[in-house]
Amino acid sequence: MQSIAMQYHHPGCGDVYDSRILQPPSELPARSHNNSLSPYYLLNNGKKVHVPWCAIARDQPAVEVEDGARLNARTCTHRHVVVLRALNTDGEWVHGWFAKRQSNLLERLTKRIVIQIGVVCSSERPDSSLLRLYPDAWYSRDPMDFETLAVIRFERKHTLLTEVALRAREETTKEKCKPSRRPTRNSTRTTAKRPREETCTVCMEESIEFSPKRCGCKTPVCDKCMGSMRGLCPVCDRGVLNAHFECHCCNSVDDMSNSGFPCITCGQGVLCYACYRGFEECFACDCIS
Ligand SMILES: [Zn+2]
Ligand SMILES: [Zn+2]
Ligand SMILES: [Zn+2]
Ligand SMILES: [Zn+2]
Repeated sequence: MQSIAMQYHHPGCGDVYDSRILQPPSELPARSHNNSLSPYYLLNNGKKVHVPWCAIARDQPAVEVEDGARLNARTCTHRHVVVLRALNTDGEWVHGWFAKRQSNLLERLTKRIVIQIGVVCSSERPDSSLLRLYPDAWYSRDPMDFETLAVIRFERKHTLLTEVALRAREETTKEKCKPSRRPTRNSTRTTAKRPREETCTVCMEESIEFSPKRCGCKTPVCDKCMGSMRGLCPVCDRGVLNAHFECHCCNSVDDMSNSGFPCITCGQGVLCYACYRGFEECFACDCIS
């Protein structure tokens, strides 16, 4: 019996495993690259870098600072702060505070303004999410400046989304050119041995579709059930079925149904559902981790 190496014990989630042990879901949920980027942008050496919607952690209410106005603690209060988030090289979210200009330019606040806004905010609105959830990256000991990190992340996202859009366009063209004849199901299936009908121990249905299991045990589980259990054996892996799995991008820990989705670059099923929806990459493909 091949046992699965346990990753670690999480005080809230119990046992946490590497999501690589999961088979990818047999049908991937739909996702769209359309409207992934917001109209807000940062400037990188004079070049616009659009901010993905998923990188905006806080933007309410939409109050803008006039384009020409200087940013200081008088022109910019906690109501003007837009918080962006980005994964650092350790796969942890870090946040940066920005002021939104009328032109949709997001401008990084200096540490001095951040402190002043924080002081006023903590006396006027002590329960503000700004202070509780999104402390500015000036206070983290990250070696990389937040804006540098954000620009790398957002430019990479732009490249990935462009590739996704290109592939989608190619696929529609291919689909149009393809002859209408579709291969009939199971017509090309070749089986070395004559399939024997057996009862699946999970659904109790008679079936002939039993692929070899990773654990190697002889418990008959039909392919359909194996698929819905994401390749885990109901006997050998029973302790894992209710466990949690770690995402190789954002390090979040989630149950089986929200884990094991493919990385946009290498295709390995190691991401959580949210990262899959956001066309993210695993740390093996990450250019800066
Ligand atoms: Zn079954
Ligand atoms: Zn087994
Ligand atoms: Zn994730
Ligand atoms: Zn990858």
